[in-house]
Amino acid sequence: MAAVRDVARILSFEEARQMVEDHARGLRPNCEERVQLLDSAGRILAESVEADRDFPPFPRAARDGYAVRASDLLQLPATLQVIGEIKAGATPEGLNIDSGQAVAIMTGAAAPNGADAIVMLEYTSRHGDAVEITRRVATGDNIVSPGVEARRGDVLLSRRAQLDHASIAVAASVGKTHLLVYRKPRVAVLATGDEIVDIRVQPGPNQIRNSNSYSLAAQVREAGGDPVLLPIAPDDPASLRNLIVKGLQGDLLLLAGGVSAGKYDFVERVLADLKAEFFFTGAQIQPGRPVVFGRVPLTGSANEGCYFFGLPGNPVSTMVTFELFARPLVEALAGMSARKLVFLHAKLKSDIKTKTGLKRFLPAVLSGEFEHAEVELVRWQGSGDIAATAKSNCYIVIPPDRDRIPAGEWVPVLLR
Ligand code: AMP
Ligand code: MG
Repeated sequence: MAAVRDVARILSFEEARQMVEDHARGLRPNCEERVQLLDSAGRILAESVEADRDFPPFPRAARDGYAVRASDLLQLPATLQVIGEIKAGATPEGLNIDSGQAVAIMTGAAAPNGADAIVMLEYTSRHGDAVEITRRVATGDNIVSPGVEARRGDVLLSRRAQLDHASIAVAASVGKTHLLVYRKPRVAVLATGDEIVDIRVQPGPNQIRNSNSYSLAAQVREAGGDPVLLPIAPDDPASLRNLIVKGLQGDLLLLAGGVSAGKYDFVERVLADLKAEFFFTGAQIQPGRPVVFGRVPLTGSANEGCYFFGLPGNPVSTMVTFELFARPLVEALAGMSARKLVFLHAKLKSDIKTKTGLKRFLPAVLSGEFEHAEVELVRWQGSGDIAATAKSNCYIVIPPDRDRIPAGEWVPVLLR
């Protein structure tokens, strides 16, 4: 069996992340499928969506009030003659405002010819056919001119955009009942370890239920992939190899456990036997230092082989390394264009003491009121502590050169 530790490649967090982003950029998504608009939330658009007419298509009243000529309101209060009313959806044909005239108008209605502004109802009082106006307007106030939001034919949504509620609103507004999206990539999930048992099995006194396959499956789904759970692999090279070969039939393979330097950590050795290319075999982070990223060459595959991650088996390490490194590949295979990790900043509520040397991503709770974001580490027992992590909602990022961060300092936070 190949000795992989000879080719150990431990990168800084930034180098490892860059490596992953570079590979993600080169990935081709699966073929396309048509889905109903309502089922498209979270999916990645495989077509562009264009405006089928000008937006707005008519001079749209943005307020309830009176359509007027701004030049009639130079002297206040001004009294204008009301010559009609336009409801939203009505056609203002025949209504033409001359000097000294106004038309009662509702939000969403088309402004009549001759009007160049709308006075809000709040600044008017109606007396029969007359309206008294107490506030001046500038030309164009409260009227959205045709085509200022978009021109017919303009691209409103681009290919590879992820569909959220705003983009679904756009698709609906141009009459799309269905959208072309990319098929979800199949992401194989393989938990390893002799001590790990299926969640349907009562564990023995020294056994642990498999939680990693489920956290990973949930993360894969969030990232736009379709998880395929393989049976748990024992710490034995032959069985592990069989299951890895199965996993390599998917679009991406995620392994959890078996990547540390222990005597029974066979994952890298089996992958090396399968002629894997290793892009890194560790990152200077905590939790998750032994994370492995590579690709097994496969003839005839769309992406020059199947990429894999060997994620450390400690459950919090598994979660964190998926977020930091595996997510961009799942997203790229799902068709999304690459995006950078975004960190927020929040004020630290209590001191942090740690050791230098690794970049840390520690489970924390982000709270606060309105724009005053505060963050605090959760008490945890290390990277096996899923109970503490489940109570957190973010990770505080601690640079490798800091061993103490005092309360009150602004710290970077990665949302979960
Ligand atoms: P490993 O990375 O295989 O050395 O595992 C590190 C730690 O994570 C050990 O305490 C394992 O028991 C635990 N672990 C590994 N795989 C899983 C899993 N699928 N679910 C829960 N815990 C796990
Ligand atoms: Mg193990």
